[in-house]
Formats: sequence, structure tokens, C-alpha cells
Amino acid sequence: MHEFELIDRYFRRSGGRGVALGIGDDGAVLDLPPGRQLVAVVDTLVEGVHYPRQIAAADIGYRAVAVNLSDIAAMGAVPAWMTLALTLPAADPEWLEGFSRGLLAAAQQFDIALVGGDTTAGKQTVVSVQLLGHVADKRFLSRSGCRPGDSIYVSGTPGDAAAGLIDVLNGNDGHDLAQRFLRPTPRIELGLSAVGVANAAIDVSDGLCADLQRMLSASACGGTIEQEKLPLSTTLVERYGSAEAARFALTGGDDYELLFAVSAGNEDEFLDACATVGVPVTSIGQAEAHPGLRVTAGDTPLKLDTDGYRHFNTTKGEAV
Ligand code: ADP
Ligand code: MG
Repeated sequence: MHEFELIDRYFRRSGGRGVALGIGDDGAVLDLPPGRQLVAVVDTLVEGVHYPRQIAAADIGYRAVAVNLSDIAAMGAVPAWMTLALTLPAADPEWLEGFSRGLLAAAQQFDIALVGGDTTAGKQTVVSVQLLGHVADKRFLSRSGCRPGDSIYVSGTPGDAAAGLIDVLNGNDGHDLAQRFLRPTPRIELGLSAVGVANAAIDVSDGLCADLQRMLSASACGGTIEQEKLPLSTTLVERYGSAEAARFALTGGDDYELLFAVSAGNEDEFLDACATVGVPVTSIGQAEAHPGLRVTAGDTPLKLDTDGYRHFNTTKGEAV
């Protein structure tokens, strides 16, 4: 299959909000709404590193968009356009059909247009999606605004996706937890409603502790979270018991939930905003002046491997 035929068949769709010129030219031309600032994010999924080889092409396509939408959500931005850089060992029509179906389903669900990309042959499947969104002038969330005394909130039920990955690896895809890994829910509405209310935000991709640590250190503060406050899903606790479920929630990755820091005076407004968008959030601890992240279980401090996944870390090897 010729490259142009492949793009036409699987990726080119007409129209799209704010698309003056889309796929087919040397570049896309996009209409940024007046008074808005552009927000750009990119995330790459490498086969065997970010997802196991056995997952369905449609899930890879959906996930590639969803993980980028999660970064857009953490910025409090409105998603609008995306580009796709695709490296494939072969142009397999069955794989491409599934992949584009999953990718375009996520795009349609969040009203974003695929406006360009690049397609190359290579040894290993690599999917790189760039997402472009926008915010009202200077009205965005960042990692660096957290202050000592802020409450730390997390959305949803972290830990499910990491446990779900085990099911996926065991060929047990039908389970709820597996779906949490395969089809993460980007918290776009939640991010938007937290702008001007939360002091800081980050999305949970590498693990709650690892990402919270990043937010706290970007804000030059520290914090303590309490294991008993973690919002564990019933499914996770039933499958693994509460201690192991908490370990998944603290150290497992791929949740794509949001963490927020909220000052005491804004908590009511924050909780109202979350209720309006219908996403559960839970206070799990607080930010403190003393640097570092501490996790307590009752009166006991916990020692956890909280680094999250690191690329180029020779001792850990592949993530999946
Ligand atoms: P060029 O050589 O000028 O970069 P390409 O042949 O790479 O052009 O791409 C042709 C057109 O198809 C461009 O508009 C490009 O953005 C688009 N395109 C290429 N690959 C993809 C893809 N995987 N998804 C979406 N659009 C793509
Ligand atoms: Mg090109």
C-alpha cells in the first residue's frame, strides 16, 4: 500500500473545528480562537515499553489520544487538534483499520481533529501523538502553584489501571480493571473546571507518588499523604485486599487521573466544581513546607518504591 493511499484510507477525514487546512498539504493551518493561548503536548507510545505487544490495535489508537488528552486536562486546556507520527514495521491493513478506528473514536469523543502527521517504516511500532489545545489568556493550571497547607486531591480511583495491566498481560482483557488500562478516561472537564480554583495540577501517568512528588518539587514544597484516605475501587480491594490495593494506588502507573493542590479557602468551590462535572475527587493529604513526599499508614511512615517508571534505567529494563 502506498503511503498516500494509507493516509487517505485510514486517517484523512474532512472538516473539524478550527481547521483552515488539514491533512494533505505540507502543514496544517489552524484558527486559534481570539484571545486564547496555544497549549502543546506530545506523548509517544513505544510497543513493548508503554503497552504490551498483545493489546488490540484499536486500544493502542484510543490510548495514544487519551494519554495526550490527560496532559491537556492537567493544563486546564480545551483540546482542539492533533497530529500523528506513526512508525510501523509493516502496513498491515487489519492493524491499521483497528488502530485508526480507536484513534478516531477518541478524537470524535473529545471533538478534536486529526490535522496532519508523518508515516514511516521502522523496526518497531511507535505511535507519537501531538495534541494542541488552548486556554483563555494566562488561565491555565501548572505544577508549580502548590503552597504549604494546600489540600491534595486525587480524582477517580487510582491503582485500577496498574492492576488492569496484569490482567491484560494474562490475556484477561474483558475485566473492568483491564479496561481502565486499555481505555483511560482523560479528565478534560475536571481540569477545565479547576482553572482559577486549584493552585496546581498534574496528571497521574507514572504513579500517584511519583507524579505528586513532581508537582510538589516543582512548587518547592513537600507533603504528606495518608494511605487510609486513598479512594480505592471496590473491584481493586476485592481482587487484591486493601494493603496490595493501596500499593497499586500509590506506585502503579497509567491511571491518567488528576492530582490537585487546593488552598483551604477554595475547597468548597473546588468540590462544587467537581460535583458539577460529576467526577469524584478525594482529599488524600496536604502540602507542607518541608521538602519530599511522606506517606503514612496510621502513625507509621511507609517506605515505598515511589520513583515511577524511568526510561534509560538499566536496572529496571522494560516496563511491560
Ligand atoms: P511531506 O513529505 O510533505 O511531509 P507526507 O507525505 O509526509 O508529506 O504527508 C502527506 C500529508 O499527509 C501531510 O499533510 C501530512 O500531514 C499527512 N500525514 C502523513 N502521515 C499522516 C498520519 N499518520 N496521520 C495523519 N496525517 C498524516
Ligand atoms: Mg512527512
